Amino acid sequence: MSLHKKATLFLVATPIGNLSEVSERTLSVLKEVAVIACEDTRNTLKLLSHFDIHTRMITYHNFNEKESTRGIVKFLEEGKDVALVSDAGYPLISDPGYELVNEVIRDGYDIVTISGPNAALNALVASGLKTSHYLFYGFLNPKASQARKELEELKDFPHTLIFYEAPHRIEKTLALALEVLGDRKACLARELTKLHEEYHRGCLSQLCELRDLKGEMVLLIEGKEKTEEEIDLKELIEEIDRLIENGSKMKEAVNKIAEKRQISKNSLYNAYLKRKKEL
Ligand code: SAM
Repeated sequence: MSLHKKATLFLVATPIGNLSEVSERTLSVLKEVAVIACEDTRNTLKLLSHFDIHTRMITYHNFNEKESTRGIVKFLEEGKDVALVSDAGYPLISDPGYELVNEVIRDGYDIVTISGPNAALNALVASGLKTSHYLFYGFLNPKASQARKELEELKDFPHTLIFYEAPHRIEKTLALALEVLGDRKACLARELTKLHEEYHRGCLSQLCELRDLKGEMVLLIEGKEKTEEEIDLKELIEEIDRLIENGSKMKEAVNKIAEKRQISKNSLYNAYLKRKKEL
């Protein structure tokens, strides 16, 4: 339970490439806080200079998390607001900040998130893959044997999988994903919000043919499709029947329910016909 002490830690999302995506609220928070804790002062300085902001910066990164958490809490104790930013996107999302947030929650200060861009969500909504449920995994382990284990664990997950990946590892990761997960639909989103933003959509085997992939990238892979046997048919058939009773054609009704439940239209159609024959 928050004690609502006065000072606030602001978790501020910053651009993932295009600086004009900064909001007015982001700028006013970065101007008004006493100090900005950032991963790399050189990167954050570029952002601050662009907007003529001169707030004091301190570093907060994976290597000094404990020590710097204490320093930041001290500012809050003195009644001074602090903003936490990472090099790009949201702090804490494949970036440092987890330790700090938990310490600040324990100490009873307020935490406010300032919305902004996030590479995973930008990629997801344009990927063409299912969006109603998804798993953001972040980076796979850089060791191939560990990455394989992680993918094995994700193999039966039925919803879209989202990974961050570095350009020098992407070819190996794509090949491993194809081997472990099979030839599923996938999308590789590159250089989001930047001049050369692009999406490669297709099957994993097609993405494996891409060469010289550069820049920042997000890999999205469709979840495991439910087989006809796994779909809870009774309920779906009732929904389809209701639509047909209300005037829909059979195919139309099947497509509508398949879209609503985010399942394969073909599987549902076959299962529906099969079940109807049995009745
Ligand atoms: N905190 C960030 C966020 O909220 O998206 C993620 C930081 S993580 C250290 C960096 C990784 O995010 C990159 O290796 C890449 O996978 C992804 N990423 C960041 N910016 C991107 C961009 N403009 N286009 C595509 N992927 C990006």
